[in-house]
Amino acid sequence: MMLSFLTSLVFPNHCLLCEDLLRPEEQSVCQLCLAAQPRCSFLERQRLERISSTIEAQFSAVLINCPSVSTLCHNLKYGGHPRMARHLGYHFLAPAIASAHIDIVLVPMPVSKRRRRRRGYNQSEGLAQGCLRKLTERGYRATVALLLEKHAHRKSQIEVDPFERWTNPRGSLRVRQKIKQRIPRDALLVLIDDTVTTGSTLLYAAEVVREVFPEQPLHLLALALEV
Ligand SMILES: [Zn+2]
Repeated sequence: MMLSFLTSLVFPNHCLLCEDLLRPEEQSVCQLCLAAQPRCSFLERQRLERISSTIEAQFSAVLINCPSVSTLCHNLKYGGHPRMARHLGYHFLAPAIASAHIDIVLVPMPVSKRRRRRRGYNQSEGLAQGCLRKLTERGYRATVALLLEKHAHRKSQIEVDPFERWTNPRGSLRVRQKIKQRIPRDALLVLIDDTVTTGSTLLYAAEVVREVFPEQPLHLLALALEV
């Protein structure tokens, strides 16, 4: 906090959305803009729940796509903003998790090593880290586990047509056995992604996890729904 305060004196930060000067505790987006972002409606939440009903998992997204949410997601993915990712995970994702289970394992959607190198970080991991901090403050025994890994490089979801989006992720994810052994029995597993379009990528990841953890409670959680 002290370091970011000193840095902000030398390099003043501005909100990505309204361009107002940020306070030291804010990261990339001011509190007013965070509060103003539009949320998924009941109907949109129902649509996601229907997609995941086949594997008995909860499926939710917090924000609905609009120009400001698109700006956030684009910067998250391509702007190399790990602190913003943690900030958004803290404010948006953690409040969307309601669990009777004290143990929560946050599983970020993986990116390929090549993509991670190019972007400098995995935005879903940043979101999970921020979410972890808030859950810990709320008294949960939460952890972030890199349970899933990619085993082939694939085209980005924005480079493929809608039909390909359904077939593209097949066969590209697997569970890391070393991490699997550390997952507490009965913990809630939360798969975390930045955006969801058709829902196919997260659903496929959930199917991969479901095969290994047939009884575990499962929640698929995205920051934003693109419609
Ligand atoms: Zn703002």
